[in-house]
Amino acid sequence: MSDIAANWAAVRRRVDAACREAGRNPAEVSVLPVSKTFGADVVRAALGLGLYRFGENKVQEIREKAAALAGETIDWVVIGHLQTNKARDVARLASEVQSLDRLELAEALQHRLDVENRSLDVLVQVKTAREETKQGLPADALPDFLQQLRAFPRLRVKGLMTLATLSEDTGEVRACFRQLREWRDRCAAEGYELPKLSMGMSGDFPLAIAEGATEVRIGTAIFGSRSYASA
Ligand SMILES: *Cc1c(COP(=O)(O)O)cnc(C)c1O
Repeated sequence: MSDIAANWAAVRRRVDAACREAGRNPAEVSVLPVSKTFGADVVRAALGLGLYRFGENKVQEIREKAAALAGETIDWVVIGHLQTNKARDVARLASEVQSLDRLELAEALQHRLDVENRSLDVLVQVKTAREETKQGLPADALPDFLQQLRAFPRLRVKGLMTLATLSEDTGEVRACFRQLREWRDRCAAEGYELPKLSMGMSGDFPLAIAEGATEVRIGTAIFGSRSYASA
């Protein structure tokens, strides 16, 4: 538990340092702690540090942890690939989805949010990495997709999210982040306001901050290494 406190403080210091290095104000960059694969006890320890937003990539894990932590005020953020048949739980339990990547999912979420009489913050996940396995909307489909999302008033579109290519080549990683920022700027010129850029993880967040990230999603550097592989 004290590890989490020390790790959290170290991550925040490193994020602040990356901001200063990039000539940016540290107040512009938030850290989303990614608690996937860790249990409710770990989330509870993090709540004790004043953290209250947590990134998860499986809806089933949100269900389990939300049940174990009933009574706590927690904002669950979905960052993993979402199947439409999970829309009901997402509409009930999540405060934000960063992995919106297709119209069918927007339709399912809007429908279930109608039932729950709730709204959801969403980020559009854009594919900037070259790996086939990386999810996301093709970047050139973004303007049309943003136009289509206007038909779903319960989805509050706040920005864009991406995962960079996993590579030792920092130039290639950085190019993924730059692409996301450039698409954001292009869409802004077309009238779509997208203030949030969620990009950067434990291994690459300084590069993302240099390219304009407003949120970095950090798991390993806060909670330690995960016992099983999880995209
Ligand atoms: C797991 C995950 C992260 C955090 O990864 P770390 O390398 O552990 O910091 C960030 N974003 C997404 C989409 C993830 O699935």
